[in-house]
Amino acid sequence: MIDSLGRNITYLRLSVTELCNLRCRYCMPEEGVCKLAHSQLLTEEEMVRAVRAASRLGITKVRITGGEPLVKPNILSICRNVANVPGISETSVTTNAILLPDMAAPLREAGVQRVNISLDTLNPEKYRKITRRGELSDALKGLSAALDAGFEKVKINAVLIGGFNDDEIPALAALTQKWLVDMRFIELMPMAGNTDFGSECYIPVTRVLDALPQALPEQEEGVARLYRLPGALGRVGLISPLSQHFCAACNRIRLTADGKIKPCLHSAEEISIKGLSEQDMMEQMRRAILSKPACHAELNVISRSPSGRSMNQIGG
Ligand code: SAM
Ligand code: SF4
Repeated sequence: MIDSLGRNITYLRLSVTELCNLRCRYCMPEEGVCKLAHSQLLTEEEMVRAVRAASRLGITKVRITGGEPLVKPNILSICRNVANVPGISETSVTTNAILLPDMAAPLREAGVQRVNISLDTLNPEKYRKITRRGELSDALKGLSAALDAGFEKVKINAVLIGGFNDDEIPALAALTQKWLVDMRFIELMPMAGNTDFGSECYIPVTRVLDALPQALPEQEEGVARLYRLPGALGRVGLISPLSQHFCAACNRIRLTADGKIKPCLHSAEEISIKGLSEQDMMEQMRRAILSKPACHAELNVISRSPSGRSMNQIGG
């Protein structure tokens, strides 16, 4: 569906849970989140109904996210049912990869075509620090399982944090020389809860190019500006929600685990679809698409995202 500014909305991010097995410092509080009552969460049937409604409005791609989608007990069934909705040509999952060693092949069999893996550092100590509890070796085993499972595409996402992992840009980018993966660097976003990060942590992704002078530009894809290291199998991507936002090309809406459509990641506006019929869900989604703002508010360390949620409660 075309929104009021002429943008073609074809992409739904479906968050299936707020829960997570990690506690990344920029995403989630250490104590976790209050578990929502079962009755507040979308059921699997409602999620699939919502995807059917979205498909009728022209959504063709669904990214399943969270929290950590792989901690959801019925995740394989959700993926299979979403992938089978008529009109959905691409189903992908964003994960921290910790559970991928056992889940990669079943996800692929369930119809998931693409996987995005979050990996901010290749240093075990720093991995423990940023995730507050994860082991790098588990994430790397998950990455390896994803590469073996035959997904059409595997991407790695790193949140670029000044003073934390900007010294690892060459090492992370070198993964594209070893494997057929895209390595994408994303600017840290100042969400309501992640106030631990000082202004020195917010650095533009153009730093990646400073660290990789040999990288050659490739054609842009979606929200990422792409480059390739000489001879690399995969590409290096830059995603700049702060320094050069991509609102004019925004093609997505988000659905939270508690059934709220968010027309914009950085807006407090939410439209509930919990408990509605497919027709009514579709009407609410139409409203949400028509209310997509032209651009999100200015974001910086003082003026934080007005979304009113932490990232694990939205899905990224
Ligand atoms: N748990 C899964 C994972 O980590 O891939 C999926 C959910 S997570 C909320 C989705 C993405 O949001 C991850 O790539 C994560 O790094 C990113 N993210 C979370 N908080 C962020 C922030 N404050 N700024 C930028 N990216 C953030
Ligand atoms: Fe969990 Fe993903 Fe948030 Fe990390 S970024 S706490 S893995 S939801």
